[in-house]
Amino acid sequence: VIEKGKPEWSKITTCAYCGVGCAFKVEMKGDEVVRMVPYKDGKSNHGHSCVKGRFAWGYTNHKERILKPMIREKITDPWREVSWEEAIAHTASEFKRIQAKYGPRSVGGLTSSRCTDEETFLVQKLVRAGFGNNNVDTCARVCHSPTGYGLGTTFGTSAGTQDFDSVEQTDVMLVIGANPSDAHPVFASRMKQRLREGARLIVIDPRRTHLVQSPHIKADYHLPTLPGTNVAILTALAHVIVTEGLVNEEFVRERCDWETFQDWAAFVAEERNSPEAMAVATGVPAQSIRGAARLYATGGNAAIYYGLGVTEHSQGSTSVMAIANLAMATGNIGRPGVGVNPLRGQNNVQGSCDMGSFPHEFSGYRHVSNDEVRRLFEIDWNTPLEKEPGLRITNMLDAALDGSFMGLYVQGEDIMQSDPDTKHVAAGLSAMECVVMQDLFLNETANYAHVFLPGSTFLEKDGTFINAERRIQLVRKVMEPKNGMADWEITMALSNALGYPMHYDHPSEIMDEIARLTPTFTGVSFARLEELGSIQWPCNEKTPTGTPVMHVDTFVRGKGNFVVTEYLATDERVGPRYPLLLTTGRILSQYNVGAQTRRTDNVVWHAEDVLEIHPHDAEERGIRDGMWVKLASRSGETTLRVLVTDNVAPGVVYTTFHHPDTQANVVTTDYSDWATNCPEYKCTAVQVTPSNGP
Ligand code: SF4
Repeated sequence: VIEKGKPEWSKITTCAYCGVGCAFKVEMKGDEVVRMVPYKDGKSNHGHSCVKGRFAWGYTNHKERILKPMIREKITDPWREVSWEEAIAHTASEFKRIQAKYGPRSVGGLTSSRCTDEETFLVQKLVRAGFGNNNVDTCARVCHSPTGYGLGTTFGTSAGTQDFDSVEQTDVMLVIGANPSDAHPVFASRMKQRLREGARLIVIDPRRTHLVQSPHIKADYHLPTLPGTNVAILTALAHVIVTEGLVNEEFVRERCDWETFQDWAAFVAEERNSPEAMAVATGVPAQSIRGAARLYATGGNAAIYYGLGVTEHSQGSTSVMAIANLAMATGNIGRPGVGVNPLRGQNNVQGSCDMGSFPHEFSGYRHVSNDEVRRLFEIDWNTPLEKEPGLRITNMLDAALDGSFMGLYVQGEDIMQSDPDTKHVAAGLSAMECVVMQDLFLNETANYAHVFLPGSTFLEKDGTFINAERRIQLVRKVMEPKNGMADWEITMALSNALGYPMHYDHPSEIMDEIARLTPTFTGVSFARLEELGSIQWPCNEKTPTGTPVMHVDTFVRGKGNFVVTEYLATDERVGPRYPLLLTTGRILSQYNVGAQTRRTDNVVWHAEDVLEIHPHDAEERGIRDGMWVKLASRSGETTLRVLVTDNVAPGVVYTTFHHPDTQANVVTTDYSDWATNCPEYKCTAVQVTPSNGP
């Protein structure tokens, strides 16, 4: 832990790691950070923090940080440092050349969920107004895009329904496909506090997560589903609720579409959806499913919390809709203590989605084909806009291989590490003529880049992040960007060089534009955020200070919409060659692909990626604790150490994906969610065999 003397001044800012959005006081001496102190008045953390936000900020000064722009003609050439002027002019001329040769849709951009709202808004504006197409996507594609689809279809908007404080009024927590103790630690502490006070707990997860193992709390039910069977178990829970008369009919009649409810109720009541029938697919005893369903429906205020274990499946969107169905059927929506709460992973993944980072939506989740909405943007941006949705990231890579997509501007993402089917990503990037990587470090994707634009850290910029409870919070600059430009300034310079003028003197002006064009952000401004501390969208004339709990009197779409959610087994099947199912997750001390946490002197421990395997499966293969093993799938193979543990069930193995040496994503499948293309990271058929090491 490095803390450098007595602070001279401080500012309040927002953590740049996870979607909890903890507020910190950054204590400074001159232009050096002395320490990060969890802010006692932080609305989402109330003075608490985890090890990452508190200590893992040293990457700002890491020796591997790139501070000068670089270009090269071919990806096999060495990098050449250039001035900002040359880098921007070169990039603009390359994109213009590509569009002249291959057409206006041959280029696109990816926004970053680590950057501010203002910065992601500018990238999607650059793509739509500067490039003149809708080829923009975001890393939410690979995490919570099914949340957008599923909650949009059932409730009418793509966001968590509650504020974090709501957990204090929860009587029953149903946690599915989420490990908040590692991934959302500060909120997990609040959940545990409420559980110690007597709230009941249902955990649906292939692993015995901390919530299940903790000696201080007791899970009433742990349903260890086989990976890929969430829809089966959620439909079985619904079967019990419908067939045992546990539906809140008054709520459903008043608040939901009765016709879609009846269709859904008739479907889930079918015998093939009973816990007994689904026990085979899920591996969970019927009695446990029945008990959990009764507890959720009758235990008082019941809230569902879910994570990527729900969304990163071929039926990710279906699972989200199955969750929404459960909440509507039992009336557990629209008041404190209940609701459907996606635990968003990255600090600003909610914001990057809200800002219009998907190829089919403007900010505020409005479809690009909506003439009225498009006209609004065309007038404000003074340029005609495309009506057709653009390409998703996977389609951009496919189009590159077809020779029709040749230029990609990547804002702060490492798609070589974070996206599935690494070989496909590498092939797509290799086929492009100009890949522009904007990041802090030379990441794996930069190996395929022709231009590297150094990015800035959250300590070096003003802006806003939006956390998992829709809370917009200020990020405040405590030092000048070491690279010379904040990310929003880079995008602005690139747009100007391309010939589409952008002029902002400060990110607050970008937020003014967002508020002007986005009904759910009406009245949001930096001044208002300074005054109130934070604002939870939707914010408008009726709710000028924001909305802690959504869908109180009516759903955003009017009546709640039930959707029939038929369980379909994934095409990723185990067999004699690949007999185990791999699922993946995170650990507390590392963050995603580790670009920041691996490059900070302040993190108190560094853990490697290990493979968890059940003692029975280990013994069968002659594998002992700590040995090296080869993990192989139909997609690829990697080598890592093994941890023999009964945290995973027989037939299931688990690892994390924090280290580039391990690259767990080389083994994951290329199947994806049917509605959104979110990759099926959480379910891959694999074989594990002893190895001599990498
Ligand atoms: Fe940062 Fe999340 Fe930890 Fe809070 S819980 S300090 S937001 S990483």
